[in-house]
Amino acid sequence: MVEVNTVRETAQTNNEVLNPMTAMGHEQLVFCQDQATGLKAIIAIHNTVLGPALGGTRMWKYATEAEALNDVLRLSRGMTYKAAISGLNLGGGKAVIIGDSRTEKTEASMRRFGKFVDSLSGKYITAEDVGMTTKDMEYIHMETNHVAGKPEAYGGGGDPSPVTAYGVYMGMKASAHQLWGNDSLEGKTVVVQGAGNVGRNLIGYLNQEKANVLVSDIFEDKLKQVTSEYKVKVIDPADVYDVPMDVYAPCALGATVNTDTLNRLKCSIIAGAANNQLADEKLHGEMVMRKGMVYAPDFLINAGGLINCYSEVHGSYNRKMALTQAENIYNTTLEILKLSQQKNIPSYQAANSLAEQRIEAIGKIKLSR
Ligand code: NAD
Repeated sequence: MVEVNTVRETAQTNNEVLNPMTAMGHEQLVFCQDQATGLKAIIAIHNTVLGPALGGTRMWKYATEAEALNDVLRLSRGMTYKAAISGLNLGGGKAVIIGDSRTEKTEASMRRFGKFVDSLSGKYITAEDVGMTTKDMEYIHMETNHVAGKPEAYGGGGDPSPVTAYGVYMGMKASAHQLWGNDSLEGKTVVVQGAGNVGRNLIGYLNQEKANVLVSDIFEDKLKQVTSEYKVKVIDPADVYDVPMDVYAPCALGATVNTDTLNRLKCSIIAGAANNQLADEKLHGEMVMRKGMVYAPDFLINAGGLINCYSEVHGSYNRKMALTQAENIYNTTLEILKLSQQKNIPSYQAANSLAEQRIEAIGKIKLSR
């Protein structure tokens, strides 16, 4: 057993928790552990100026606690910006559960996590993220009402991926409009990296538009599913950054837009669903701009999932309404790309500043009586 003194000394020496929280502007961090179920989780509430902090729970086998902490801090901050830029009355939060989602998840651990969420009395609303399913949301819902992404049978919004994909498609079309003066994707070559829930739905829209779709995935079953449903050409994951294309749509992992890939990519537009696509926001955001590529900020165009959750937590869920709201991602993307052009700043920076302006303005009206 670790001595309490050792824990205290480690935290004091490394300033591992409060310093990063201060640097990133977090309001609250909640560390959760339960010996009976083996649950170890961290809930991060970044900012609640616009409303309760909503963000999914990620279950991942983090190599270290520091890695889990870093992930939850970064992801929760991203949610603040995503909600703000999307015009939602939500703050930013996120949770991580440390463990293997395939082997270490039980009904009891999910429900215990639900109890921790409930202890925050609605300041944090959880939802699905990597390693979590709608079934898990059902278990969490047994212990708290502060959960979105419940199965449709329970009045929830179910899988948010179709709405996310629609938003990404809107962002891609707005980028095309900005670059080519016309938002048609007909005949354009789009590389979709990742044939998962969002990637597959996105391909559906691209097929309707008669775009030329190339797809890669690391799993055969995913490729089998997508090729049986849609007209696509499969490419090797290793070739994604080297094939000629008009649009690169990252729908798998983050940080794929980096110095190496930017020196290889021959696309005009980057627009996809993955979170944190720019490995280094400042460095690679500027590199993309200097290369004359249009980058549709990820946290803006992948907000469909959050919009879907918002519809669920504010009254009764309505998919049509969620899709209509996601359609507005087209207008917001255009506004940001124009601002980026006028001010000669990277698009991510234009999006960040609009989000910050909204938080500041609404924060002020909340203070006035
Ligand atoms: P998913 O797990 O269903 O799909 C991801 C796919 O990417 C999987 O099929 C996986 O095999 C594949 N993949 C992994 N590594 C790869 C690689 N190196 N090359 C090619 N393919 C690879 O996830 P999803 O729900 O479709 O989400 C996709 C991305 O969008 C994730 O980064 C997620 O965080 C983000 N996102 C999703 C939503 C949503 O509503 N689902 C909302 C916002 C953001």
